[in-house]
Amino acid sequence: MKTIIEPFRIKTVEPIRMTGAEDRERILREADFNLFLVRADDVIIDLLTDSGTGAMSSEQWAGIMRGDESYAGATSFYRFQDRIQELTGFEHVLPTHQGRAAERILFELVGGPGKIVPNNAHFDTTRANIEHSGATPVDLPIEEAADPRGRHPFKGNMDVAGLERLIGEVGRDRIPLVMMTITNNSGGGQPVSLANLRAVREVCTRHRLPMFLDACRFAENAFLIKQREPDQANRAVRDIVHDIFGMADGVTISAKKDGLVNIGGLLLLRDPELLHRASNLLILTEGFITYGGLAGRDLEAMAQGFEEVVHEDYLAYRIRSTEYLGDGLRAAGVPIMEPPGAHAIYIDAAAFASHIPRDQFPGQAVVVGLFRQAGIRTCEIGSVMFGSPPDDKQHRSASTPRPRLELVRLAIPRRVYTQSHIDYVIEAAGELAARRESLRGLRIIDEPPLLRHFTARFEEI
Ligand SMILES: *Cc1c(COP(=O)(O)O)cnc(C)c1O
Repeated sequence: MKTIIEPFRIKTVEPIRMTGAEDRERILREADFNLFLVRADDVIIDLLTDSGTGAMSSEQWAGIMRGDESYAGATSFYRFQDRIQELTGFEHVLPTHQGRAAERILFELVGGPGKIVPNNAHFDTTRANIEHSGATPVDLPIEEAADPRGRHPFKGNMDVAGLERLIGEVGRDRIPLVMMTITNNSGGGQPVSLANLRAVREVCTRHRLPMFLDACRFAENAFLIKQREPDQANRAVRDIVHDIFGMADGVTISAKKDGLVNIGGLLLLRDPELLHRASNLLILTEGFITYGGLAGRDLEAMAQGFEEVVHEDYLAYRIRSTEYLGDGLRAAGVPIMEPPGAHAIYIDAAAFASHIPRDQFPGQAVVVGLFRQAGIRTCEIGSVMFGSPPDDKQHRSASTPRPRLELVRLAIPRRVYTQSHIDYVIEAAGELAARRESLRGLRIIDEPPLLRHFTARFEEI
């Protein structure tokens, strides 16, 4: 059969409150055109993020009931640890309440002033935790990542020559570790190839540097390796996953993505000394090492989620449904970042709303347009998110790159929306494309000094 169906039946439903055009006009004005300030029940299709927004399975909910809430040595911890050991080959597993808690512990231990941390592209919380420690994050994406229309299969790859050059320039002593983000979230949800991971591993080994993974979407990355990388098509995703983790000296994961849970994270380390120090910090700020700031029931849900996420029929459905949205948008005349990645489709807003100058936020104009059209909530990733107030000299993170692209992210929650929901999104975007000249630029009337996209207020020009 050519049709790839949702490989699950729906057992519990959450009604969507439908809104009309007038409701949405009022909602937009009350939120001053910032969709982060809109209440979730005023949204029809919520594509703001894929983080923590997935649906759990009946087995995960059964695990929630089974949760062992003992302070130390809970059965749920051992079930969780077994699952992660089997999946990753790492012996020691530290649970954390989400990904950034693992990052904070790691960079408190290895960061600090003068240190430099390379990555294919740092996710924003990783970047912020590195800077918070006093260290400097450096992004080393491949050149092809800058072209939104190019169809390079592994746009998430690191520029290996650039890594060599950086090590040569700053010296290995200033680099505590090399990080690889899979998939590359900041770079459009694009995957990293096994060949690129191996090449980076080789450079790290030669310079005696640890290689770490920010592996929030490891399963989606592994499936794209199976689909796109030569000689990988006949391999099991689990084996590819093993190869990936097998190369790493340490891993941070937000389980809110491929862990298929609403909260949770983990830190994996091989070095016994680092593990010991991380365990002490975990106890200091998160909780005892067998629960790490989570409830026993959360560990059960994670144990089951990390099992379900490597099922190949799930991954085939997951990757195909994202691609389906990309195909539909392209056919409807909406320019997107190519090729479709795993967890989101990104509209190229600079091309879509080319009549709006960048200082009038074309991405935010598209975000507002999609909500006005059909109650769809998306996220601007461009001059609103990465720009800063005109007079802001000291607050602006020195290492934050000026945005190259004006993007609107349509992130797809896992196992939440059906094909007809996605058809609705495609239809709405197509209608918007047909009358794109009606999109209006915005100006900011109020903004905080940092992370302004969350609370800035706008008016239409
Ligand atoms: C979500 C995410 C994080 C941070 O995880 P939280 O659970 O939100 O703290 C880190 N890196 C990447 C690539 C992510 O997508």
